[in-house]
This record gives sequence, structure tokens and C-alpha cells, in this order.
Amino acid sequence: MVRKVVCLGELLIDFVPESNGQALADVPAFRRAAGGAPANVAAAVAKLGGASRFIGKVGADPFGAHLRATLEEAGVDAAVIETDEARTGLAFVSLREDGERDFLFYRHPAADMLLRSDEVLGAWLEDAAVYHFGSVSLIAEPCRTATLDAARRARELGALVSYDPNVRLPLWEHAEQARTEILEHIAIADIVKVSEEEIEFLLGLGLVEGARKLLQMGAKVAVVTLGPDGCRVLTTSSDIHISGVSVDAVDTTGAGDAFVGGFLYQLAQRGVSAGTLVDAVSDLVVCTEIFGFANRVGAITTTRRGAIPALPTLAEVEAR
Ligand code: ADP
Repeated sequence: MVRKVVCLGELLIDFVPESNGQALADVPAFRRAAGGAPANVAAAVAKLGGASRFIGKVGADPFGAHLRATLEEAGVDAAVIETDEARTGLAFVSLREDGERDFLFYRHPAADMLLRSDEVLGAWLEDAAVYHFGSVSLIAEPCRTATLDAARRARELGALVSYDPNVRLPLWEHAEQARTEILEHIAIADIVKVSEEEIEFLLGLGLVEGARKLLQMGAKVAVVTLGPDGCRVLTTSSDIHISGVSVDAVDTTGAGDAFVGGFLYQLAQRGVSAGTLVDAVSDLVVCTEIFGFANRVGAITTTRRGAIPALPTLAEVEAR
């Protein structure tokens, strides 16, 4: 049995402006971009040649069919349920002058947020080497329970659990609600990936103190992304900085997801389990191999536009 990286959560199409700095209603042209962070991670693993599955829900409409096809083309086992209850998620994005993104959701909640726990088949979790989730699917029921139940089931079946809080403040009702909810689920995860800004927002602490706090809260490994400077990997007994790769970045969309896909691919390939994770990543050589690889996957993704279309193959990563 080939054990997979199994990702669950939001699946939607972002309509991204072709030009920046315009108010949403004034954007003259949009580019269609399949995504949702956990779907990007599944695509990243598959693009590298690893086995991955994405569990999610779309509407019975052409956008849903497009999303399924995009995942399948990338090589992902698309455990995508089609429903009549709601339409596929669509989000219109505008980039403000300050670089912040504004989102307008067309019919929210969309189908992806209606995934129910009873729809997640046991067979979709049984072969999981890793179960990966984010916080967007925790925002509303029934997807929230589906996400957390699947995490517990996957863990019982022996999977490593990975969590990317992926703070998207505009999606939450209040910042405080986001902070509380996100921190509440740190303990479920073996490995948590955050950026320095997310640590500051979630805990009001600097990188090292914040990462230690996440470890105290129950995570075994905290991975902190540093953009072009690479990442820092902390356990209770180690703190390793893996330098970034120098590239000419043109679009950082999806770099974080590609990076997560890179290290989850490595962990699955090496057969790292919840029991061996800390030993593996606190070893300087092994940690450098796993996260140096992830840095290269993230870096290459920034050299091309979009999220899924920008993901590299294994050959491209090895050529770096
Ligand atoms: P996020 O904020 O989504 O976690 P980052 O922007 O820090 O993600 O990027 C994730 C990873 O992608 C980084 O840790 C790094 O490995 C790589 N990366 C991102 N931006 C660049 C860049 N400009 N140059 C090189 N590598 C990059």
C-alpha cells in the first residue's frame, strides 16, 4: 500500500486581477486560479511524484468539474464530493495598493464549507501517512467538525498530523475569534507551520518565544517560514535555521503551500511517523535535507505565476 499525504479543506476558484491597485468593482480582467490552501498542498505533493489525496466538496456545476479536473491533472487522488446543496466556491480578489488582498465571496458559504464528517469515507484516511488541514475549514460547521473528526481518525490510524493555521483574517468574524479558534487546535497537530507574522498575531510574541509556546501547547514541531530567508524548524530540543534559495520571485502566491507540500512529501517518502518525527527533524543533516528541499519547492513556485500552475516537478527541484 502506498501511503499518501491526505489533505482536507477548502476548494475554490480565485478570480485574481490581471492588474493591481484597483477597487474590486473596477478590475477590468480576472485570471481564474484553482485553489484553496490544502488543495494546493495536495497538488504540490503529487507534482513532485508523491502520492496525495484531497478530500473536499464542490457544487454540481462547471467550476466544480474544473477543480476536480485540475487536481486530477496534477496527479492528486481527488476525493471530491459533488453536491446540489450549494455552488462551488468562487472568490473575487483585488490587490490594494498596500499589497493586502480584498476578497468578495460569491454565495458564501459555498459547497466546500458544507463537507460533513459522515461523508469522509474511512478508506480515504486508512492509507494516510500524513493528514494535513488548515484553519479556513474550521470557520464554520459542518466542515469544522469534518476537519477535526478526520484529524482524530487519521491519527488513530497512525498518520502524522500537519496543521497550517494559514490566518486569513477577513474570513473570520472577529480577529479574536480567529486567534482563539486557531490556538485551540494546535495540540491536535504533530507539526505546525506558521509565518513570523502569524506568530506575532496569534501570540503577540517574537519568533523563538512564539514557536516555543506552540510547542508547549502540544505541537511537536514548529516550522516558521521566513520568505526569501528560508525557514526555522524548532522542537523542544532543537532550533535549526535552513537558509532560503535565491531566486527572482515574480509571484509568491502559493509559495507557503508549495513549501508545506515539499516537507510533507519528504516526511512521507522517509516513512517518518508521529513517533519518529522529533528525532528526524532535530537531526541537523536530516532536517536540512527535508526543509532545504521544501525551501527549493517554495522558491521555484515564486518564479512563476499562480499557485498550482507554478508548482515544480521533482526533476526541477533536484536540478537546483
Ligand atoms: P507563507 O507566508 O505563506 O508561509 P512564505 O512567503 O514565507 O510563506 O514562503 C514559504 C516558503 O517559500 C519560504 O519559507 C521559502 O522557502 C520560500 N520562499 C518564499 N518567498 C521566497 C523568495 N522570495 N525567495 C526564495 N524563497 C522564497
